[in-house]
Amino acid sequence: MCTPGEVGISCYPWSMPSVWSDLEPLLLQVSKPIQYVGGELNSTVKDWDAAEVRWVLMYPDAYEVGLPNQGVMILYEVLNEVEGVLAERSYAIWPDLEKLMRENDIPQFTLDSHRSVRDFDLFGISFATELGYTNMLSALHLGGIPLMAADRTLEDPIVVAGGHAAFNPEPISDFIDIAVLGDGEEAVLRMSEIVREWKREGRPGGRDEVLLRLARSGGCYVPRFYDVEYFEDGRIKRVFPNRSDVPYRVAKHTVMDLDKWPYPKQPLVPLAETVHERMSVEIFRGCTRGCRFCQAGMITRPVRERSITGIAAMVEQGLNATGYEEVGLLSLSSADHSEIGEIAKGLADRYDGENVGLSLPSTRVDAFNVDLANELTRNGRRSGLTFAPEGGSERMRQVINKMVTEEDLIRTVTTAYVNGWRQVKLYFMCGLPTETDEDVMQIATMTKRAIDAGRSATGGNDVRCTISIGAFVPKPHTPFQWAAQESPDVVDHRLKMLRDAIQGDRKYAKAIGYRYHDGKPSAIEGLLSRGDRRVGAVILRAWENGQRFDGWTEHFSYDRWVAAAVEIFAGSPLSLDWFTTRERELSEALPWDHLDSGLDKEWLWSDWQEALAGGEVDDCRWTPCFDCGVCPTMDTEIQVGPTGRTIPLLVNR
Ligand code: SF4
Repeated sequence: MCTPGEVGISCYPWSMPSVWSDLEPLLLQVSKPIQYVGGELNSTVKDWDAAEVRWVLMYPDAYEVGLPNQGVMILYEVLNEVEGVLAERSYAIWPDLEKLMRENDIPQFTLDSHRSVRDFDLFGISFATELGYTNMLSALHLGGIPLMAADRTLEDPIVVAGGHAAFNPEPISDFIDIAVLGDGEEAVLRMSEIVREWKREGRPGGRDEVLLRLARSGGCYVPRFYDVEYFEDGRIKRVFPNRSDVPYRVAKHTVMDLDKWPYPKQPLVPLAETVHERMSVEIFRGCTRGCRFCQAGMITRPVRERSITGIAAMVEQGLNATGYEEVGLLSLSSADHSEIGEIAKGLADRYDGENVGLSLPSTRVDAFNVDLANELTRNGRRSGLTFAPEGGSERMRQVINKMVTEEDLIRTVTTAYVNGWRQVKLYFMCGLPTETDEDVMQIATMTKRAIDAGRSATGGNDVRCTISIGAFVPKPHTPFQWAAQESPDVVDHRLKMLRDAIQGDRKYAKAIGYRYHDGKPSAIEGLLSRGDRRVGAVILRAWENGQRFDGWTEHFSYDRWVAAAVEIFAGSPLSLDWFTTRERELSEALPWDHLDSGLDKEWLWSDWQEALAGGEVDDCRWTPCFDCGVCPTMDTEIQVGPTGRTIPLLVNR
């Protein structure tokens, strides 16, 4: 029996087949058992029997990474607000519990009611990166859902892929029923209505009919309704619908007017430690800075700002709902909000003396100013500052369209040191198109200059700078989608040279921290990012051979992936290199050409050529439109302030 006030676990007013009683005894034998318990503050368990459409939403990584994910949190709330629709959450199960669950016949479950994921109508999986693909297979298999979409019956949920990786879902097209591109809020509501109607009609035409209805809505890509033909040399000849009643190209969704979508209103508060211990408010969506490596910026165009008052209302509501003391002002480049100064000052005034810290994920070097940084930290901790110059040399930054000069960077970092910050973090990438050893070595030179400038400006020796560097992966729907990815050997060689240049210099070794990710996981990410349908068999084989949790060093096995690729591609022109280190021509059909992000392929190509010539492109927020194609194709427009509004002080506090 439940006692008053008890939440979560199996304490529900209606009967439902929960796996909790079987699961609970196993939790004593696994690491971090709390992550499987559920019942978090602001989680929801709706009446199963009263719901007509039931979603399970999964983030395919461990709870500590998945719970703070904004996409899942937003859709969870949007769906649960609708009468007759319910949504529950699921995260990837660590291998220790997976083993025990298999031994004890316990299926992949939701955290909210501990129900098997197979009981739901739709199984939505949000892929921030491609490194969650093997965890999807584990979840499907544990859930008793056939891995191959073609083998599923009416008893199985419709498996839906979303998130940034869904802009090229071809490598997982055998395993998913649908991919949804772009913003999910309106898309999941529309899908719920289509499924509800089909169920009310008695599920006519079975699974094929509901998939067809979803495909015909124009916003759902159903891979089984499209075929691919290949040339003998391995390249794609064409991708085409195999029936006449589905769209030739499937377009992304774009939510306009973010003020109408103030989610999450009740952010989830995790029970266990997670990667972010704060609530987040998304202050705008999209970015038109035009960094050529950045898939997120390209596929989320145009910029749509939330208003200053809309942001203040979300901060207020979120703090009241959670008790958090830190608010992250989220976006792809938060200091670019047209009223960021007023937002920071307005919020700092409003929460004066209340220990509410504000933070930005990272700041562009050219957008940083001390007043903004001081306002952000006025009521909270003054932790480190993070900047992302991305390219080590000025030439490299021109190629990627991230125009920051070395002088800008040194001046900004020195200003931060002089104003009391002692720790600055700098993000870079290695293996960018046209990069040489020298471009990477300039990271060391520039960082040492920044430390020298900081020491001399502050008169002290306690300034520190941490370099964080990872390997570049060319992504679909970006100007670099045609580029050859650098091989892991070259990337690792450059990373080692850079490390030696920093750590071998006693004058700076203690002042400069060095964190890097080696090139091998990026090679596999490259295969999964720009792969086509033939890569699905490699994913399946790697998973069958034990591959899980690809984003975790302790679980990632490059050798296992390479062995799977060698085995599957044997006797064909394909290979890991064919998909990664091969440069493409404009004439080559790309696996995602039939998926419409709005970006004009000719424009992307001309920007790729501009990159090779070192040419720059401005930000269309502040200059005339440069015809990337998104606004006319998607019928959208840039939505930026300033609104001129202010954040009122709170009375009665
Ligand atoms: S179409 Fe023009 S205004 Fe719209 S995002 Fe592209 S460049 Fe900017």
